[in-house]
Amino acid sequence: MSEQRNVIIIGGGPSGFTAGIYSARANLEPLLFVGKDLGGQLSFTTDIENFPGLEEGVTGPLLMDVMKRQAERFGCEVRVETVTEVELREPPFKLKTDAGEYEAKAVIICTGSSARMLGIPSEQKFFGHGVSTCATCDGFFYRGKVVGIVGGGDSAMEEGTFLTKFASKVYIIHRRKGFRASQIMLDRATSNEKIEFVLDSTVSEMLGEDKVTGVRLHNTQTGQESTLDLDGLFITIGHVPNSEVFKGQLEMDEEGYIITDRKQHTSVQGVFCAGDVQDHVFRQAVTAAGTGCAAAIEAERYLAKLGD
Ligand SMILES: Cc1cc2nc3c(=O)[nH]c(=O)nc-3n(C[C@H](O)[C@H](O)[C@H](O)COP(=O)(O)OP(=O)(O)OC[C@H]3O[C@@H](n4cnc5c(N)ncnc54)[C@H](O)[C@@H]3O)c2cc1C
Repeated sequence: MSEQRNVIIIGGGPSGFTAGIYSARANLEPLLFVGKDLGGQLSFTTDIENFPGLEEGVTGPLLMDVMKRQAERFGCEVRVETVTEVELREPPFKLKTDAGEYEAKAVIICTGSSARMLGIPSEQKFFGHGVSTCATCDGFFYRGKVVGIVGGGDSAMEEGTFLTKFASKVYIIHRRKGFRASQIMLDRATSNEKIEFVLDSTVSEMLGEDKVTGVRLHNTQTGQESTLDLDGLFITIGHVPNSEVFKGQLEMDEEGYIITDRKQHTSVQGVFCAGDVQDHVFRQAVTAAGTGCAAAIEAERYLAKLGD
């Protein structure tokens, strides 16, 4: 027997918990699945200084714990289950998790995205301690410091140029001589005197004790190894939206981001979507929370119409 619910929210990051707060306060008694990362991407980071209303800043895990408790206070039920299968063609929508089967009149997808990583063991050790995947989020902490960026696309050029506002020096480390970045972004980076390119090179190891102090580089042409002293390293080799489980059921772009309209509706009526799984542009906690709020309000309106 499936458990029947009004609204099921998939994802326990800023967009999911915000959708939880709003739909619980609309008396929809939402059920929220957090999957394997309770708190989402912010649970892997240390200081958050740009979330409005928190003048002194806050750690990512604390912010997410407060958001979760706020959602629960209004009656959002949070379960540590991962959605493994969905049937979204028509309502009631059917979902399977690793622990049970469910039916919902409305679904809000908030499954976020994951940054592509280099795949070397030391990057996990230093993540949040000198290694970051978000210059907009963490650039401010590198005032007067020397940082590296790994990548050769538009994001690497944009984030590298952005980091020169704070850092004294920015090395852009790229495995080839050619770039995927557009000419205009490349020109902007090459004409910036704080940026130096380290080409034909990959990062083979991150160095340091508790924090990154440098990287070991591997020259892809000569095979030579060298070291580069750095205070921080930004990995900018792309993001993957966590949308695999919805493939073939919702419209997505070629990278797998779920397509939404301005009111967070997906291509299926009654299925809404918020946060980074539908946003490859801003990727911030506050924008994720904002779209989570909009998705919940629209889900409430949809259910009210269904009731009529
Ligand atoms: C290192 C780092 C630092 C950052 N710093 C900042 C910052 O300072 N300020 C800022 O505004 N932003 C920051 N960000 C960006 C911010 O974390 C994201 O924009 C935000 O977390 C996106 O929220 P979200 O709700 O869309 O998804 P996420 O936070 O990615 O959460 C997704 C949730 O979905 C769940 N999930 C996925 N698949 C399933 C499934 N099949 N079933 C059930 N659950 C599932 C996951 O377990 C997780 O709980 C940072 C990001 C990183 C990586």
